[in-house]
Amino acid sequence: MRLFRRPPTLSVEQRDALSAVLGPLDRYRGGDHDVLADLTAWLLARPDWSAARGFDLTEDMRFAVAATAAVLGVGIAEDDPFGNVSGIVVHPSTMVDRRPRATPMRGVVTEAPRSMLGHTTAHGPVFVSWQAVERDRHHGRGSVVLHEFAHKLDAATTMMDGTPRLDGVGARPRWVEVCTRVYEQLRAGGPDPVLRRYGATNPTEFFAVATEAFFTRPLDLRHVHPDLFGVFADAFHQDPATVDAGRGLTSRIADDERAAAERAAAARAAAEQGPANDAAEHGDAAHRG
Ligand SMILES: [Zn+2]
Repeated sequence: MRLFRRPPTLSVEQRDALSAVLGPLDRYRGGDHDVLADLTAWLLARPDWSAARGFDLTEDMRFAVAATAAVLGVGIAEDDPFGNVSGIVVHPSTMVDRRPRATPMRGVVTEAPRSMLGHTTAHGPVFVSWQAVERDRHHGRGSVVLHEFAHKLDAATTMMDGTPRLDGVGARPRWVEVCTRVYEQLRAGGPDPVLRRYGATNPTEFFAVATEAFFTRPLDLRHVHPDLFGVFADAFHQDPATVDAGRGLTSRIADDERAAAERAAAARAAAEQGPANDAAEHGDAAHRG
């Protein structure tokens, strides 16, 4: 409920454009869609947008960034979930970071220059690369905008430590227990089919990386880490996996596992029947070269 929210509002054309701009990230109908539109308008109306290096930042680009960031705030019962964003800076491509920083390897710090697609700090502006925003819209397996604005939600608490504002009795201990468990798994180095390795850098990056997965691959995240999905659904007051399942979508990871299990079962059944089909299979393989 945002009783005190006032204009700015989106034009009818902009409201209609939201779905096209967000693609699969637009999961909102009715009142939720109104909140999405309000938050987008709110972010667009901020005075502190800027373009790096004389980049020609167009209205369409600002709209795409604002609408994507707004997705994070649809379920959050605050007037301005992004009140701590002190500026939004859009770069044409990557930025170079030369500061010493932690790596996903425990205790290892690096000063090697790295290309960044986005960047933010607890009190500073959000930087995003437009090239990365466009790439995300085509690939849909991550989102620099969701990542950087998630850092700002994290920073809205007393410290930027990977825990956003939570409500509900027992929410915080449950959050800490689940996130710590999955974070430690990621740090232990096992490949994770849905969470990027960068999330092992520290709890702050874990939150931002898991937020990307929660919104861009919710069915996969729910399949692989149901507890983690659950605490994120509680924190964001959204359930993107249920919406996607209602659209008839399925988890690719679950589908692949089912297919592999079926192949294994078929292979076992074939082995029990003996090597009758060997010759035909070899002939086929020879054809394919
Ligand atoms: Zn980050």
